[in-house]
Amino acid sequence: MIALAGGVSYIDLEFSGIQRIIATAVLIGPGGVALLDPGPSSTLPTLRGALDRAGITLADVNAIVLSHIHLDHGGAAGTLVRENPAIRVYVHERGAAHMVDPTKLVASAARLYGDAMDRLWGEIRAVPAANLVALRDGDRFAVAGRDLQVAHTPGHAVHHISCFDVASGIAFVGDTAGIRLHPHGPIVPPTPPPDIDLEAWRTSLARIGAWHADTLFLTHFGSSSSPSAHLAETAERLEWMASTARTSLAREGSDEDRERWFIDQVRIALLQTMNGNGLTAIETAGRLDLNWKGLARYWRRR
Ligand SMILES: [Zn+2]
Repeated sequence: MIALAGGVSYIDLEFSGIQRIIATAVLIGPGGVALLDPGPSSTLPTLRGALDRAGITLADVNAIVLSHIHLDHGGAAGTLVRENPAIRVYVHERGAAHMVDPTKLVASAARLYGDAMDRLWGEIRAVPAANLVALRDGDRFAVAGRDLQVAHTPGHAVHHISCFDVASGIAFVGDTAGIRLHPHGPIVPPTPPPDIDLEAWRTSLARIGAWHADTLFLTHFGSSSSPSAHLAETAERLEWMASTARTSLAREGSDEDRERWFIDQVRIALLQTMNGNGLTAIETAGRLDLNWKGLARYWRRR
């Protein structure tokens, strides 16, 4: 477990055997232990091992906070609640129903991930309605003795929230501030189907900026210590990625050709600042074919 501030740490879930792809933030205080985005069930052994080494058992965990319900963030929630029914799961009100009945969530993910579902995500269990706490924009709630402010931050997902811990100055932003796996590395906004909404995403970035946080905490991956520069770069990369996808749609050929052309453009841009291993890591955190599909869907629905 890596410390961020007093009572705030994070764990590298080593997703797919690669370091720095998915991070779970851990809040520890007099009110218990909270896990922010516990990740998928496939990485539960790593999560448990890291908690264990910090002297924390699942019986100490009484809250799970989900930035959104995508499986790389919240897939393990139902499995963890089954093991400790005292855990409350905090999620945006528009995501709550899909935790109680994950049928649609699983079907939607299966369309994107096919045969790889099980290997990537592992078990996906429902969360009993009684364990869920539905959050709305502007809510405040306390976990692990800390007071968190909620902002609804759609764009990547319609039910995405970000949480600001005023005491530590850390804003937990899920996927809204993009994927950036290493300090000073490039930012890549993850834009998979079906919810991508550029207008909403721009507003969400401004909302996070208005907190004037000292630190952003990204699920992919870890902390960013200059929020305003980070958010500005996220906005810029999002516009570039979206306009590249839009350009692809005007090209002759099939959708497969357009998708391949888009992926090539993004890879060429990324390889100017990183090597092949870096690129593989970024594409493990957010597949570029899915980025094209999400943006193509956005433009075609307009
Ligand atoms: Zn994610």
